[in-house]
Amino acid sequence: MRTVRKRNADRQRAVPRGECALCGGELYAGSACWRVWGRTLCEECLIPWLLAELEPYRTRWEEAEL
Ligand SMILES: [Zn+2]
Repeated sequence: MRTVRKRNADRQRAVPRGECALCGGELYAGSACWRVWGRTLCEECLIPWLLAELEPYRTRWEEAEL
């Protein structure tokens, strides 16, 4: 008898391997996440966080120096 691994892990039974630093959402093996400055962010939190971090650089086209 040999062990057969499932190709698609059952998400209901998967054990979380970490959590998002912002929302606390569970991160599973193989799920997309971003390690930014020592913190791990989930896919849902990345863009809002990134836009907030880039806020000092935000301007309007008319105000930008060309
Ligand atoms: Zn998150």
